[in-house]
Amino acid sequence: MLPVFVFDDRLWGPAGAPRRRFLLDCLDDLRTATDGALVLRHGDPARVVPQLAAEVGAASVHVSADPGPYGRRRDAAVERALGDVPLERTGSPYLVTPGRVTKRDGTPFQVFSPFARAWREHGWRAPAPRPRAVPWLSGVPSTDPPPAPDPGDAQLPPAGEAAAAATWARFRDERLRDYAEGRNTPGTDGTSRLSAYLKYGCIHPRTLLADLAAQDDGGEAVRRYTDELAWRDFYADVLWHRPDSAREYLDPRLQGMRYDTGPDAEELVRAWETGRTGFPIVDAGMRQLLGEAYVHNRVRMIVASFLVKDLHQEWTRGARWFMRHLVDGDLASNNHGWQWVAGTGTDASPYYRVFNPVTQGKKFDPDGTYVKRWVPELRDVPARYVHEPWRSPDGVPAGYPEPVVDHAHERQVSLDRYAAIRTR
Ligand SMILES: Cc1cc2nc3c(=O)[nH]c(=O)nc-3n(C[C@H](O)[C@H](O)[C@H](O)COP(=O)(O)OP(=O)(O)OC[C@H]3O[C@@H](n4cnc5c(N)ncnc54)[C@H](O)[C@@H]3O)c2cc1C
Repeated sequence: MLPVFVFDDRLWGPAGAPRRRFLLDCLDDLRTATDGALVLRHGDPARVVPQLAAEVGAASVHVSADPGPYGRRRDAAVERALGDVPLERTGSPYLVTPGRVTKRDGTPFQVFSPFARAWREHGWRAPAPRPRAVPWLSGVPSTDPPPAPDPGDAQLPPAGEAAAAATWARFRDERLRDYAEGRNTPGTDGTSRLSAYLKYGCIHPRTLLADLAAQDDGGEAVRRYTDELAWRDFYADVLWHRPDSAREYLDPRLQGMRYDTGPDAEELVRAWETGRTGFPIVDAGMRQLLGEAYVHNRVRMIVASFLVKDLHQEWTRGARWFMRHLVDGDLASNNHGWQWVAGTGTDASPYYRVFNPVTQGKKFDPDGTYVKRWVPELRDVPARYVHEPWRSPDGVPAGYPEPVVDHAHERQVSLDRYAAIRTR
């Protein structure tokens, strides 16, 4: 058995520094776990993999199926280039392999809830048992990995399988019981923080659910946690059926939406990127992105809504910024998360949703713990005013910006633009 990782410029190039750094660290961990046998090569997998297979006389090549549009094309190209050596797609990084769950007539689900019902009915296998000993083929030369990128100020989570298992165990034992409530409050550490580990295969979702099944009574918390993993599978499934939705609007009705351009619009986008919009929960989220290469889920929705519906930018722009800076950046979850917020995706809501950053902040971060953690300029502002410091009798603290837009006005602009394309 020869473990191999190929650095493919098509994927390595566009990934931001946090993801590249985290991946390199995971590979280091994997090399140790494989007693040093892991081979690194660099180049087009359709050339590199058959070459290596010939070099070592491989009887077959095994990969974990990649449901993304590029991954599918790449694996097909590798398979063709391997000729007589079979390429085995052994499982996928999901509970249910994308494409397996369909409506009775064989068409894909467009909406989460019926997908999740069918997904639970379909079920999944137990995780593969850990092998006792693997006969690693050692001594096969590697090429040097690309230089480790500097993730800037971002503090990344520790990489690798043991770190993933420890993160999971801590969450399961200390926070899972409060997850149904705690998952929505960014000021508490209420979620599992497993997204980067799931993304890079340091832990498999089947391992998580098998562990939960062994717990006595998970109740609502386990149901909610399973639902979140179902969202992950759902978005991968949507992408599998509609590979174009990685870049194109899933729902084309909003295709003609008007967006803002020009120097003023660019300046506002810059304020969003750097966490200086004057809306505390938005700024906290965007600073968390730069500080931890991660953003709490509720806040991802708020900052995405702000870019699309207050600053009138196309969702693709925000999705690209996220992919560059997130350590868990994942094409399916990220781009469909953005499309959901923008109203171009799988949101089943009958009305055009515009998040109000002040009421969202007050509801989900009532005492301002999250905001104060990421926006030190607001640390002395009383909780009452922390989500709208411009209302404080002392005014906006020095060094913190006034709101860059009037939310009520921009909301109306968004709704008007939406109405204009709906009546066309
Ligand atoms: C605009 C936007 C962009 C997003 N981009 C990404 C991304 O690039 N990568 C990514 O993994 N998730 C993304 N998400 C989903 C979600 O925000 C993260 O998965 C979650 O915040 C990760 O934190 P956690 O592991 O503590 O989550 P937990 O609450 O502990 O959830 C457990 C796991 O379930 C999955 N999950 C949870 N919520 C979602 C969701 N809404 N969609 C898909 N999977 C989910 C994740 O794998 C997560 O690790 C995005 C959401 C939005 C709204």
